[in-house]
Amino acid sequence: MSDEQIETGEPIVITDPDSDRYHTFGYISWWQQEVVRDATALVVGAGALGNEVLKNLALMGIGNLLIADFDTIEDSNLSRSVLFREGDRGERKVDVAARRGKELNPDVKVKAWHGDINFEMGLGVFRHVDAIVGCLDNREARLSINRFAYSVNRPWVDGAIQELMGIVRLFWPWQGACYECTLTDADYQMINLRYSCPLLARDNILQGKVPTTPTSASIVAAFQTQEALKLIHGMEVEPGKAMLINGLTNDVYKTEYPVKEGCMSHSTLEPIVELPQVTAVTTTLAELLTIAQEKLGPEAVIEFDGEIITHMTCPDCGASESVFKKMARLYESEYRCPHCNGRREMSLTHRISGDEDFLDKTLAQMDIPPLGIVRANNGREKIYLELTGDRETFLTFS
Ligand SMILES: [Zn+2]
Ligand SMILES: [Zn+2]
Repeated sequence: MSDEQIETGEPIVITDPDSDRYHTFGYISWWQQEVVRDATALVVGAGALGNEVLKNLALMGIGNLLIADFDTIEDSNLSRSVLFREGDRGERKVDVAARRGKELNPDVKVKAWHGDINFEMGLGVFRHVDAIVGCLDNREARLSINRFAYSVNRPWVDGAIQELMGIVRLFWPWQGACYECTLTDADYQMINLRYSCPLLARDNILQGKVPTTPTSASIVAAFQTQEALKLIHGMEVEPGKAMLINGLTNDVYKTEYPVKEGCMSHSTLEPIVELPQVTAVTTTLAELLTIAQEKLGPEAVIEFDGEIITHMTCPDCGASESVFKKMARLYESEYRCPHCNGRREMSLTHRISGDEDFLDKTLAQMDIPPLGIVRANNGREKIYLELTGDRETFLTFS
């Protein structure tokens, strides 16, 4: 690097290489180790890309790492996962990744979160981190992250790999195209096909494996980590553009996606009201409705984005059961009556006005995730209530 490329800024403090593991970063003019140390990154997916991103962030001395994944380790992961060992078979990926990340750098604080990000991680989580890195292997999960990030107006970094090819891209709501803008009709068809049957969806995601290599994973994850590092430093990034890497031909090029008119991701929740006393497990529907009415008047109601099943009734044998579960996460087999195998009818709700006979249910019992965000509406004005009391469920690091 020539002298001209070094920007003048803060004076460079050179530390003792014997005692400071970050010594070499001190020579980088813009690098602020204390900013990196104070930052929290959410890494979604602890597979091939996730392993590499976590490794890099740990080496750089990121302060807090929230690692999210639902999977367990199998031997076939070992060829691309620098943090996993042969003896880890059957363990949860997040637990092992967190442990090994800390082993790499004990300065790093970690939180391992094992679960389904679509239904079990509240939207608020995305507001309370400094960088969101998607290390995913399927469109459905990318679309979910994209919509979550858009909802709370936060940028996110996506990476994708196949054989020796890779894509790195950063999306920032209202700045250029988003991930959903890039989806074709064929992509939607595949996603809808999977959504139409949740059981099938899980099977397809697990079976539709894309061949990847440790080299493409480390190349793409390295660029993803650098984008996260820029976000953390507040440096310039290029939202809506992609970097494409072809390891067969060694072509590397950038492309800019067009913004899609009417893209369904393009909405941001505003205003979001933080409720530090409210948690999914301790707050009831009645209590949340009271808060909504205090803020928006007596006509305020609570609204959910998707339908929640309250009861399932069998028309054949008459058996009825209370359910309280999001319809979108019901498995095909659960539609069937456990007594006579008939197809059950569902009572649904997406709106709580105060007349319901289940107002004593907690938000968790209504299938609202911790740190979730729920809409309150009085017909003229909408506000978004965050279950901020759940912060520690996701954001307590050790
Ligand atoms: Zn879009
Ligand atoms: Zn029945």
